[in-house]
Amino acid sequence: MDLGLRNKVAIVAAASQGLGRAVAAELAREGARVAICARNADRLRKTAEEISQSTGSDVFHQALDVTDSTRVQQFVAAVEQRFGRVDICVTNAGGPPAKAFLDISVEEWRRAVELTLMSTVYFAREVLPRMQRQRWGRLITITSMSVKQPIDGLLLSNSLRAAVTGLARTLANEFGPYQITVNNVCPGYTLTERLGELADRMAGQLGASREQIFERWKAQVPLGRLAQPEEFAALVAFLCSERAGYINGTTIAVDGGWIRSLL
Ligand code: NAD
Repeated sequence: MDLGLRNKVAIVAAASQGLGRAVAAELAREGARVAICARNADRLRKTAEEISQSTGSDVFHQALDVTDSTRVQQFVAAVEQRFGRVDICVTNAGGPPAKAFLDISVEEWRRAVELTLMSTVYFAREVLPRMQRQRWGRLITITSMSVKQPIDGLLLSNSLRAAVTGLARTLANEFGPYQITVNNVCPGYTLTERLGELADRMAGQLGASREQIFERWKAQVPLGRLAQPEEFAALVAFLCSERAGYINGTTIAVDGGWIRSLL
């Protein structure tokens, strides 16, 4: 299937590793011109070079923290200057810390609001007016399966990703008339650096090994395995495509069936 992504300009946030990187690589493979950002300049440059070498696509990169609205603004402007337009934006950030309610300080709540909710707002504020002028655009928010079924112990994630989902759904209404689609995608247990770290932390608390934690998670998934980042990226690339032009305002999980609800 030709996704019609050739020469589209795509921003993927927080993409030096994990899901963001996999999405950037998939879009580049489909012929998009890709711009990525993350905090660590060395790792980001290496990722940009690797994606560029493996796909032959032009990959622009700039080191920044997605909680810095000025840097996000400058990044989007730089992407436009480099590629002439912005067609696609995939928002992403690192996950907020996993803590029980009474262990989270007010300052940690504020930081999590910046990381998870406001970083999405900062990108949306920059890219949507540009897409509106073009009368075409794709905004994809990466959240978590926790927006459909909260995960015990992930208070900050459960609360703030729900806010991102509400934001995305409302933007889909407001910007639909400009042929801009806004969709939310929810990763399930996917084998990235972050998942390894979460497993190690849990393993430490329970006196278990990383592999034992992985086995415990696999047992919760009807497919009986963890996802590869590329399986997640495939859905995002489709939602970014011309082919997905009538899919708008949805929240779709790539979770192997982990969420038990009907809808
Ligand atoms: P990861 O930790 O492997 O990668 C996160 C990326 O974000 C890295 O490139 C990192 O450099 C970048 N980053 C982090 N904070 C940033 C900031 N403030 N500014 C700029 N860049 C920043 O994580 P991942 O597994 O790829 O997950 C991506 C998102 O999806 C996270 O929010 C995570 O919580 C969520 N998620 C992941 C899974 C999973 O199983 N992997 C499941 C559900 C939700």
